[in-house]
Amino acid sequence: MNLRPRYHVRKDDLVMVIAGKERGRSGKVLRILPKRDRLVVERVNLIKRHTKPSKKAPQGGIIEREASIHISNVLLLCERCRKPVRAGHRILEDGRKARVCKRCGEILDRRA
Ligand SMILES: [Zn+2]
Repeated sequence: MNLRPRYHVRKDDLVMVIAGKERGRSGKVLRILPKRDRLVVERVNLIKRHTKPSKKAPQGGIIEREASIHISNVLLLCERCRKPVRAGHRILEDGRKARVCKRCGEILDRRA
């Protein structure tokens, strides 16, 4: 069995960075790195990498990619409040569990 730590955010969540040098930036969670308690957020913490020419990039050169940040540095972003928020839980009418914004009640699970 695959025991995964339970985090307050998941892949595809919209999050905002609340600490560190990228504070105030927001984006979608691309990847969670459970062994290291880190995650990768779209367009956040970009680093430049120098690459050798390859089939994909025949010129080589510099590519930008996201570096991971610590998972405790992000909170879910509520699009209605436009603020990072803590999530509560609610059972939906169809019986599914969803995370909701504790401030406004907006459903934060994008696939719910
Ligand atoms: Zn809200």
